[in-house]
Amino acid sequence: LVPHKASRSTYYISSFHRSSITMVTATNLGFPRIGANRELKKLVENYWNGKLDEKALLTGAKNLRAEHWNIQKKAGVQDGHIPSNDFSFYDQVLDHLHLFGVIPQKYQGLKFPLEAYFAMGRGLQRPDEGIDVPAMEMKKWFDTNYHFIVPEFQANQEFTLRSRKPIDEFVEAKALGIKTRPVLLGPVSFLRLGKAAKGQSFDPISLLDRLLPVYESLLRELANAGAEWVQIDEPILTFDLPAEFKNHYSKAYTKLSAVSGIKILVANYFGRLGENLDIVANLPIAALHVDLVRAPEELDAVLKIAQDKNLALSVGVINGRNIWKADLDAAIATVRRAVGLLGSDKVFVAPSCSMLHTPHSLEAETKMDKTILDWLSFAVQKLSEIAIITKAVNQGEDAVADALSANRKSMQARRTSPLIHDPQVQAEMKAVTEEMFKRKSPFPQRAAAQQAKLNLPPFPTTTVGSFPQTKEVRVARQKLKKGEWTPAEYEAFIKAETDKCIRFQEQVGLDVLVHGEFERNDMVEYFGENLKGYVFSQNGWVQSYGSRCVKPPIIYGDVSRPNPMTVEWSKYAQSKTQKAMKGMLTGPVTMLQWSFVRDDQPRRDTAFQLALAIRKEVQDLERAGIPVIQIDEPAIREGLPLRHSDWQEYLNWAARAFLLSSTGVEDTTQIHTHMCYSDFNDIFSTIQALDADAITIENSKSDLKLLNAFERYGYTNGIGPGLYDIHSPRVPSEEEMRERLQEMLKYLKKDLVWVNPDCGLKTRGWPETERALSNMCRVAESFRKSA
Ligand code: GLN
Ligand code: ZN
Repeated sequence: LVPHKASRSTYYISSFHRSSITMVTATNLGFPRIGANRELKKLVENYWNGKLDEKALLTGAKNLRAEHWNIQKKAGVQDGHIPSNDFSFYDQVLDHLHLFGVIPQKYQGLKFPLEAYFAMGRGLQRPDEGIDVPAMEMKKWFDTNYHFIVPEFQANQEFTLRSRKPIDEFVEAKALGIKTRPVLLGPVSFLRLGKAAKGQSFDPISLLDRLLPVYESLLRELANAGAEWVQIDEPILTFDLPAEFKNHYSKAYTKLSAVSGIKILVANYFGRLGENLDIVANLPIAALHVDLVRAPEELDAVLKIAQDKNLALSVGVINGRNIWKADLDAAIATVRRAVGLLGSDKVFVAPSCSMLHTPHSLEAETKMDKTILDWLSFAVQKLSEIAIITKAVNQGEDAVADALSANRKSMQARRTSPLIHDPQVQAEMKAVTEEMFKRKSPFPQRAAAQQAKLNLPPFPTTTVGSFPQTKEVRVARQKLKKGEWTPAEYEAFIKAETDKCIRFQEQVGLDVLVHGEFERNDMVEYFGENLKGYVFSQNGWVQSYGSRCVKPPIIYGDVSRPNPMTVEWSKYAQSKTQKAMKGMLTGPVTMLQWSFVRDDQPRRDTAFQLALAIRKEVQDLERAGIPVIQIDEPAIREGLPLRHSDWQEYLNWAARAFLLSSTGVEDTTQIHTHMCYSDFNDIFSTIQALDADAITIENSKSDLKLLNAFERYGYTNGIGPGLYDIHSPRVPSEEEMRERLQEMLKYLKKDLVWVNPDCGLKTRGWPETERALSNMCRVAESFRKSA
């Protein structure tokens, strides 16, 4: 019955009722909502600025949703399996807070829905009306760079269906002739990802019984509106869960599946189910989605569950987290295995997770190297991949012969391309020895050698690297980019900024100076642009939080450093002062973590290649006479795998990557590192293992828990817990900083303590920077006198 010519198959499908043949179904879990040209960002920001009124905002959003549904329909996603309610003005978790009426007290006086909604996401200040509410807490969404608003519950929390968003959007699509599959965050994940309101102590999961009836009525309403399927995301199934969650899940889905007229697909993504396979095996649902990109090893196990329980299986075979073309032959083979066991009607072809984490479309990439472009796939292209796989399985490969042969060619080209595979880099990787992960001497000896050379006072002062990136600096960079300024003009400007910055640091009395990073657009992009193996998209934006988008660089091949990247600037800066100048680099794990990374070798190998490149830069800086070098690693902690059992392996190679980048120097060269957070408990032994001569960390919001940890674990090297918070323009007084430092000394040995702000000053203005640093230096001075 399987026709093999495309023309015949078209005829076939349109002239028979679909249910008379069984076919696998092309589906999607979520589409990037930001728009081809970041339309949503512009809409929302213009609304915030008062340039758009509410009506225009709503219309703009409606048009965007229509466009995205049509793209998916046209690409071949099956009607009935095109996602809706994946749209959000700010964040899908925040949407659920509104949906269920979980509005903390302080926002309840605001106008519902939009004013209260955005205030919860980003705070609201209207002094003339006496309104001043902070934003709710934001957290990273699993191991992505997307951030969600953390639900905050009351012990006696009531839930009501407060908004009709999922129903409205379903109806909206239906009016356009598109039948969607509404997406909801599941009740168990929703509660587990949240927290008890401040001052209360209870486990939010205890609210499950109260919450479920609201989900039930929502499902009922969706069924009444005509929804055939609903997709309920339960991504916490990739976490280690307490044993009682088995009961929570079974209770929740027994209730929800009793709602008649709508079928439930439970979606898990971002990793393996592991022990939680046991949980999903017992859910009375109609379909299960699994991430076979992250957990291909679980295919057999999930097939067995689907077979035993007569479930449809949504096979996530297209990577929703990355930008690479899929190996279609491999994906087809996986889908066929599923079909062989379950039958076609029980198989959905899907991306591994929502495409929220992938840029919109390659269409806008006009400047990229054509060879590399041919290896890539953004969301719109990923939809075609799903369609091709589906068609190949349904109609035979002949039906998509051209697409498959083009895909094979791309795959083959990428496997063998000299652009990717650099024999020099591979030889250097092989030549790495155990010696290259160690400094020559242990810290006490190095510290003495460094002190003999640098002659620093007690409580030495420094900064974390960047100084204010003023409007003038950003305009200068744009002028260079547009060709309005020659490189020489730009360089002269940056030099003048650097000079000013150095003079200021000398005047204020800082001990270890920095050049200010005026020449850098961004701490990853700057290095990516100077390394081989990196490419930049023009329009590869992904949502980070709210209206904020990032455009991660792409690591496509073996990484190497054709030329020194920072040496000239650091040399220049050192030539302007007698004081010690600190060279400033971004570390290998952060370079990896904030880029799209190649998928054809382990992340660890890419991190080590980056480390080798940085190692050379470190050695060149040393040779150029730079006595102190800082290698920033703010992203080490966020790279932690979702499961505890995977942590150690990651932390081992992450620390080794840092060591490989930092240890190729003499004892007299002082290595600093910096991390931007204060919760170190998870990674404490890793911090020690980095063996930096000094680490500067964020401490401003910490209630001394952090210092406690450093004391408890007995940290042995130099440490600078930020003396003040740079995230706000507020200038802390001398008194305040003095108390802080006093407090620190209860936990830390005074000859190990550095005095510094808690992060780079890039986002600050000069006036507050001058005052804050001058207060800070005076505090250090007074401690020296009394020491
Ligand atoms: N050196 C960088 C800066 O000061 C560090 C930034 C960061 O930690 N995110 O800007
Ligand atoms: Zn920082």
